[in-house]
Amino acid sequence: MEIIKTIPDMQKRANELRNEGKRIGLVPTMGALHEGHISLFKIARPLCDVLITSIFVNPTQFGENEDLEIYPRDFEGDEKKCKSAGVDIIFYPSTDEMYPEGYTTFVEVKGLSEIMCGRTRPNHFRGVATVVAKLFNIVKPHLSVFGNKDYQQAVIIEKMVEDLNFDVEIIRAPIVRESDGLAMSSRNAYLKDDERRQALYIYRALKRAEEIIKGGERDIDVIIEEIRETIESNSDMKIDYIEIRDAGNLGELEVLEGEILISIACFVGEKTRLIDNITLRV
Ligand code: AMP
Repeated sequence: MEIIKTIPDMQKRANELRNEGKRIGLVPTMGALHEGHISLFKIARPLCDVLITSIFVNPTQFGENEDLEIYPRDFEGDEKKCKSAGVDIIFYPSTDEMYPEGYTTFVEVKGLSEIMCGRTRPNHFRGVATVVAKLFNIVKPHLSVFGNKDYQQAVIIEKMVEDLNFDVEIIRAPIVRESDGLAMSSRNAYLKDDERRQALYIYRALKRAEEIIKGGERDIDVIIEEIRETIESNSDMKIDYIEIRDAGNLGELEVLEGEILISIACFVGEKTRLIDNITLRV
């Protein structure tokens, strides 16, 4: 397994691979790898000749009062996990490499970036779209895999690829959960025992919504209220949002039908923000 730290070296390697006719797969990550990330490697592995992952804690997607400084970092552990998952190359740039002094260019996917998580995290998706655009130009992948754990992010990347004509196939991966249902996340490492117990009610509330929809409930306000009630009566978590939207384009729904997304963001403890979602066909 190779570790490449500079942009010119990565671009040179990508050009060599492309000239050899190799199909490049990219899985972008912020490291602190867990089974969710590994599942993305497993999906990408048979679809490409060379599997590349990027490990970069991207400062432009963090807000001023967010967790950039304390975000978990474990390159040695990540390296071992990548090796056993069959990753061929880790692209591991420094912040100065990605954003040298004088850096000024950003990619904005209007509309989609301003709803849901974008309300609480105003510049978040601008940072995400920018770093992914840069990674596509650096790693030159034929395909790239994104997890539905960050559902809005995946939709935004697809829109960016369409609008800016990136010649990259985007593949979406299902959410990997702990055995009790908690969606895996690098941020789960922040949770104390009691917070971990409370966090479980995010998924339980999503399952409760699924249950009442399957039982015939179609009133969006009633479903959202049931989710709120499930969370608030079982935890001290502060709900950031509960949204039910069109799973394809994240549009608002007049009536509950088609492929729908139920998405939740909650603060647990001091300032750990967790997100989760399910999709349903109604
Ligand atoms: P991150 O390192 O958190 O930026 O995530 C990198 C990629 O892994 C993104 O495409 C995420 O959606 C995906 N991912 C993170 N957690 C999970 C999970 N529990 N299940 C599936 N994909 C995930």
